[in-house]
Amino acid sequence: MPIATINPATGETLKTFEAHGPKEIERRIALARAAVDEQQSLDFDTRARLLNRAAALLDEDQEHIARTMTIEMGKPIAAARAEAAKCAKAMRWYARHAADLLADEHPSTQDVDDSGAARVTVRYRPLGVVLAVMPWNFPLWQVVRFAAPALMAGNTGLLKHASNVPQTALYLDDLFHRAGWPRGCFQTLLVGAGAVEGVLRDPRIAAATLTGSEPAGSSVAAIAGDEVKKTVLELGGSDPFVVMSSARVEQAADTAVTARVQNNGQSCIAAKRFIVHTDVYDAFLQRFTEGMSRLTVGDPLKDDVQIGPLALEAGRSDVEELVDDAVAHGATAVCGGRRPSGLDRGWFYEPTVLTGVDPSMRIHREEAFGPVATVYRVADLDEAVALANDTPFGLSSNVWTRDKDEMARFARDIEAGGVFFNGMTASHPALPFGGAKRSGYGRELSAHGIREFCNITTLWYGKEQ
Ligand code: NAP
Repeated sequence: MPIATINPATGETLKTFEAHGPKEIERRIALARAAVDEQQSLDFDTRARLLNRAAALLDEDQEHIARTMTIEMGKPIAAARAEAAKCAKAMRWYARHAADLLADEHPSTQDVDDSGAARVTVRYRPLGVVLAVMPWNFPLWQVVRFAAPALMAGNTGLLKHASNVPQTALYLDDLFHRAGWPRGCFQTLLVGAGAVEGVLRDPRIAAATLTGSEPAGSSVAAIAGDEVKKTVLELGGSDPFVVMSSARVEQAADTAVTARVQNNGQSCIAAKRFIVHTDVYDAFLQRFTEGMSRLTVGDPLKDDVQIGPLALEAGRSDVEELVDDAVAHGATAVCGGRRPSGLDRGWFYEPTVLTGVDPSMRIHREEAFGPVATVYRVADLDEAVALANDTPFGLSSNVWTRDKDEMARFARDIEAGGVFFNGMTASHPALPFGGAKRSGYGRELSAHGIREFCNITTLWYGKEQ
């Protein structure tokens, strides 16, 4: 894939970039490693001041970076502005809380056996240089939710961003630099996927985090495994959105539209499979389909547009193939199912609702990374739970019910990193984010996210000291 800004709303190549060659890659890795000592010598207050400064700069730059994201990957401009604002908030959250989240702990060993310690301290020390391989779909947020905790913990970061968002990647490099982080603390490597292995195998790289597709995650994890390096993987999802008979159906259906089409349908935590109790199926399907059909598709730079193009031409082909396969095997497109007319230059796809989907169809098992929903009818709680779990993925889930026993059952049995009751999944700096099954492992955000890239060190002091 070329490293280039190609506007997905028009197909026009706006800017191309030469990939960093071996010399520049070496220079940046060396800088990142050299910056580790300096980073670690900064106290939490200093790091927090730098991160707050980055947040302030990001707020000042909001319109600029929002337009850059929209032009590079097609998200509606209002969503791009909201993404920038969310990043600044997350930076401030980690600036405020990192010292507490990583404070020394003093566990007692007395209740098991006297270990002979006069005292014990558990300390969260940084690992060193962390490589972040990131996707284009939330080009600012995915990076910030890694960078803010990693930098606050005292690591340095090397970003290999998706090849279609180079201007956003370079903006991030510049942002942390302008905020005053020492040289080398956070840098962008302008490289394609093929360069990742060499960087990851470099002994100066301590660990890696990857957000992206299953094949990319599996490849990076295999290399990291070979090198015995820590990884965090945030991969795909096909989250269920379950509506039981006690749910407020209209509210559920309206939320379902947003949950499915956020970011033009290209969110890992978008609800993708709608599992509806037979008592409320018809009412839900009607309102949901009306909501999906009413969405305005078009130029994402226009404030009133709700759905922009898919970010990549290949991404639209993938979605088309999944829908065509389902329809060929007997599913019904109750709305959409094709490219919209009059928007021929960009990579647009109509919001689509499919019914009659069964396990023989690819879309039943694969992630639909576009504005396409599958709606299933179920007869009871057992069937709803079983269908919710009938996926290789386990990122998050949404359950609409007012029945406390049903809630308890879903909380116990859903195989995913989250269950959101009577609402839609969203990330928040204070809450752990991550998946189970083939959605990956490890957690981002919260105390869990900042500790992923720490060497959790036991300091044991004998009584003689
Ligand atoms: P992708 O193709 O896997 O790309 C993600 C990143 O990995 C890019 O920087 C890409 O570089 C790189 N990459 C691709 N193949 C690689 C390989 N074999 N070795 C090393 N690096 C490789 O994914 P995407 O299409 O950008 O993003 C969509 C996927 O990400 C979806 O499955 C979505 O669900 C998932 N996602 C998950 C989360 C989460 O938190 N769980 C969040 C957002 C997205 P190039 O661009 O240079 O190819």
